[in-house]
Amino acid sequence: TEEKSLHFIEQIIEDSLSNGFPKDKLRFRFPPEPNGYLHIGHAKSICLNFGLGLKYNAPVNLRFDDTNPAKEEQEYVDAIKEDLKWLGFNWTEELYSSDYFQQLYEWAISMIKNGKAYIDSQSSEDMALQKGTPTQPGVDGPHRNRSVEENLTLFEGMKNGDFLEGSHVLRAKIDMTSTNMLMRDPLMYRVLHRHHHRTGNDWKIYPMYDYAHGESDYIEQISHSICTLEFVMHRELYNWFLDQIYDDSKVRPHQYEFARLNLNYTVMSKRKLLQLVQENIVNGWDDPRMPTISGLRRRGYTANSIRKFCDMIGVAKRENIIDFSLLEFCLREDLNKTAPRVMAVLDPIKLVITNYPEDKEEWLEAENNQEDESAGFRKVPFSKELFIEREDFLEDAPAKFFRLSLGREVRLKNAYIIKGESVIKDAAGTITEIHVTYDEDSRSGSGSEASQRKVAGTLHWVSIQHALEAEVRLYDRLFIDEAPDSHKEKNFLEFMNPDSLQIVKGFVEPSLATVHSGEKFQFQRLGYFNVDKDSTEGKIVFNKTVGLKDAWEE
Ligand code: ATP
Ligand code: MG
Ligand code: MG
Repeated sequence: TEEKSLHFIEQIIEDSLSNGFPKDKLRFRFPPEPNGYLHIGHAKSICLNFGLGLKYNAPVNLRFDDTNPAKEEQEYVDAIKEDLKWLGFNWTEELYSSDYFQQLYEWAISMIKNGKAYIDSQSSEDMALQKGTPTQPGVDGPHRNRSVEENLTLFEGMKNGDFLEGSHVLRAKIDMTSTNMLMRDPLMYRVLHRHHHRTGNDWKIYPMYDYAHGESDYIEQISHSICTLEFVMHRELYNWFLDQIYDDSKVRPHQYEFARLNLNYTVMSKRKLLQLVQENIVNGWDDPRMPTISGLRRRGYTANSIRKFCDMIGVAKRENIIDFSLLEFCLREDLNKTAPRVMAVLDPIKLVITNYPEDKEEWLEAENNQEDESAGFRKVPFSKELFIEREDFLEDAPAKFFRLSLGREVRLKNAYIIKGESVIKDAAGTITEIHVTYDEDSRSGSGSEASQRKVAGTLHWVSIQHALEAEVRLYDRLFIDEAPDSHKEKNFLEFMNPDSLQIVKGFVEPSLATVHSGEKFQFQRLGYFNVDKDSTEGKIVFNKTVGLKDAWEE
């Protein structure tokens, strides 16, 4: 096994352990907001938090950060759980920030009583003006010194639904001149008359993320609260909120920040992914072109390959952009070992073996996966009329064309050596049939001298009378720009790839008659393909997962 050096968060944990922090108090959480589906960026955070849990044998909670009922839904909760399980991780407890609404409310009341919070009843515009700018200190607003009694009465009114949205907010009373803008009396609660997917209409006020997050970590006794770099400036506020409630007999959570995953040729903001779904630019959150976990799964990605990818990119403190091809590399490595090989023709042209008997059929032995001995063999039918790929034949081929041409020989995979003899064309000059002869003694695996003859190339094929028709969905990048959401003057939707989906009718060998959604195959010389959930008994649908790096050579 290879030695791996510790990443900086593991280093922090090792340091605290050697400074006496008890190992059995280590506790982590993964805190998604249920306002969308998980994407490949989340996978990095998942692998990090659950990886630490496994490494230190410590609990990892799944905490739904559900403090904004306007955007959150049960559908997203369910999808997040399904994706996590599929990725292969088990959480210790399933928890919700909304479980803590009562506790958070009570803490807010004690903060009001301690003079650490107040009700502001100004418009958001006025509050923003008083807040100042990064280079200019803010000024106190007119409600900052309201009496405790008045604050308590108003806060209760907010809670009881006596006020309209936007009429009052609860603010932490910190410092309007702080160099950290987030410390200039940040909001703690706002009035929202919205139905919450778990608490229904019980609450008319909802806590803000910054207030709820750290206190939720504290309630759950999370030791290491890991988030992405955008939260560096929030750490001071995280700590301030903890100071208001912290009891030193308990574990005090600490926030640590790591660099988020950025991938080229895609977008990862949930807001933008939601827009693609809502505007029907893609076919749902699990569209195989989406960078969501469910989209990648439907495309044919394996959980293994995603975990391997997260492992390879590592955990760092500096942002960078990872090339999508690295994710594809991890996928190919995995599928190469596990995906059975089959033959499929996606752009067919008819090939007739003129010296093969009219009514004969043979069932030839084919190896399922040369990378995996246990995968065994199957039989594929061979007959006089076959399909091959149109691009595997050229009438006038250059010397370096290692496929079929007139007067030249190639091998048909698992079958015989054939020689191009003539073509039939339609009125427009397009080839409609290729006529070849075969060498009866050259069958693969027969051990004969002819079977060992070296020929220029090997082609895949299917027997026309035995082949099954399949719908094959071919995908390309969803965006034509490396960083579609980085342009100031242009919306990311202007960079959609108009050719990101192409649907073709292909022909596959009959061993695929009984495939199930999610089964993965290598179509030899073409790439990896995943059976789509749209498949029915009468109609198989494949998604192209990823191409082969190199066509196989024999
Ligand atoms: P978005 O910006 O897409 O809405 P988010 O950060 O608001 O994402 P959350 O559901 O709050 O989404 O994220 C849950 C966890 O996943 C957080 O800890 C967050 O830091 C982490 N996370 C989200 N995106 C990435 C990413 N691209 N790389 C690494 N971690 C991420
Ligand atoms: Mg978030
Ligand atoms: Mg978000």
